Amino acid sequence: MPVSSLYPPIELQEKDIYSFLFTRKDRPFQANKYIYQDGDDPSRRYTHTEVAHLSLRFGQGLQSQFNIQKNDVIALFTPNDVDYPIVAFGALWAGAIVSPANPGYTVSEFAYQLKDSGAKIVIAHWSAIDTVRQACKQVGIPPSHILILGAQHDPSHTLAHWTTVKPVTSTQPPTTPTKISPKEDLAFLVYSSGTTGRPKGVMLTHHNVTSNVLQITACEAGKLSHDGSVRTPNIPDAPPTGDKILSCLPFFHIYGLTSLVLTPLYNGIHTIILAKFSIEKFCSLVQEHRITFIYIVPPMALHLAKHPCVSDYDLSSIRITNSGAAPLTRELQEAVFKRCGVRIKQGYGLSETSPTTHEQRFEDWDKKIGTIGRLQPNMQAKFCEIGAEDGPEGPPKELKAGEIGELYMKGPNVFRGYWRNEAATRECLSEDGWFRTGDVGFVDEEGDFWITDRVKELIKYKGFQVPPAELEGYLIENELVDDVAVVGVGSEELGTEIPRAYVMRKGGLGAVQQGDEKRIIDWMNAKVANHKKLRGGVKFVETVPKSASGKLLRRLLKDQAKKEYAEI
Ligand code: AMP
Repeated sequence: MPVSSLYPPIELQEKDIYSFLFTRKDRPFQANKYIYQDGDDPSRRYTHTEVAHLSLRFGQGLQSQFNIQKNDVIALFTPNDVDYPIVAFGALWAGAIVSPANPGYTVSEFAYQLKDSGAKIVIAHWSAIDTVRQACKQVGIPPSHILILGAQHDPSHTLAHWTTVKPVTSTQPPTTPTKISPKEDLAFLVYSSGTTGRPKGVMLTHHNVTSNVLQITACEAGKLSHDGSVRTPNIPDAPPTGDKILSCLPFFHIYGLTSLVLTPLYNGIHTIILAKFSIEKFCSLVQEHRITFIYIVPPMALHLAKHPCVSDYDLSSIRITNSGAAPLTRELQEAVFKRCGVRIKQGYGLSETSPTTHEQRFEDWDKKIGTIGRLQPNMQAKFCEIGAEDGPEGPPKELKAGEIGELYMKGPNVFRGYWRNEAATRECLSEDGWFRTGDVGFVDEEGDFWITDRVKELIKYKGFQVPPAELEGYLIENELVDDVAVVGVGSEELGTEIPRAYVMRKGGLGAVQQGDEKRIIDWMNAKVANHKKLRGGVKFVETVPKSASGKLLRRLLKDQAKKEYAEI
């Protein structure tokens, strides 16, 4: 039997994201409250009303100047910036689909996403403009369709800044709001490799995302306060001025987009935006702004536990932090609390679930270390036999409550499928809405969930996705490589998984020469973004293990990599 959320169901809304955020009748805070503020330049900040007006104006400009129509894709290529929410909401108002990308991508990685998504316009930060220009040239997006956001404009004024996009001129007809069907129309196209293969566009509708904001609000953001009025058992109270969030996760990932862009705006929480994480900057912003709540990933917790600079700052304003995107260990959670008094609880989710599906409860942060917490309201979950595939006997066998198995979930935040990829969609999304996560775990008697393993091939470096199939696709092109498999191995030192390649060298093991490993690593690392680099090294093998049907036996290599690393 599937397990239903222990939370009472919440009322969802059938609204497009713009109306959901800006026409909220029960908005509990003043519209002139500052929501987004730049961590480097505090004068760059926007109130709720300003975000509403500016994004509307930009959305109208996209229609009148760029003829943006419903379902056109607009790509974003920028580090976090206070302008980000405005251009994203403006694009959504105009009916466009926003596809954010990692600004650390190489030209070919970004060109892949532009081509796959069919983006018409790119909105980019000036610091990333070289990559954007080259990628746009590769896929045929003209410079007139590149817009700049952020404090730095194009010094030559060749590329337009978003603020110069005007809504209507006297010769143009007035623009009208686009009719959006929240359950059908897409809001975001974020890229994930899912359970297997290369990155694919994850289709998230307006309703998926607004539902997740409401689910997060019911469990998490509702425990934060815009004016200090919320009290939470077992953690310190919010200050009278309300909670303050430090926004240090990337907005190009759905974790940042939903939790740090949409949810604070919906709930009126002041958010300080950090463009690029460094532990010094993180600590100094916490101290300066008296930050009370932060979303982090486990490697940030490692800095809090170990980095010498942490002791120089006063972090006592932090009421609690939430860690997600990768597993958080008990040791790390305890070490952070012991060293600097920062409480960390854990959450879980995936790009395909908009993303949050589980949150540890605030009051449980020190009681059940290691749990991902309870299932969000309006969701169901079940565990099935690990790795089972739909076959002639029907769907995988469901397990009894408490047994360890592969996690499947269903709910209003579950995506609509992969963009133009029916086959991949069918592999993980059933017709009755069950989504197969590729993660393994169980639920205990109190309704708390635990993740114990991952059966999908995905590697996560510091919370960022590293799709092995993508790296293998590059490596097979190398002149020294006959066959290859890439797997993840845990690095204790870095507090994250790192990719390691098992390579059949051309000419066999006997042909391996000194320096081959470095040659392959250097060649590979030049082609990919920083997080995909082959930090786990290359190991030459006689053969890459495969099943009789030719399927890579990754599990064998993963176990081998674990042993090899334990011996180092
Ligand atoms: P993404 O789509 O990039 O958000 O990646 C989702 C994947 O990250 C999940 O399928 C898990 O494998 C992993 N993940 C996210 N949160 C956690 C967590 N708290 N513990 C373990 N794995 C996690």
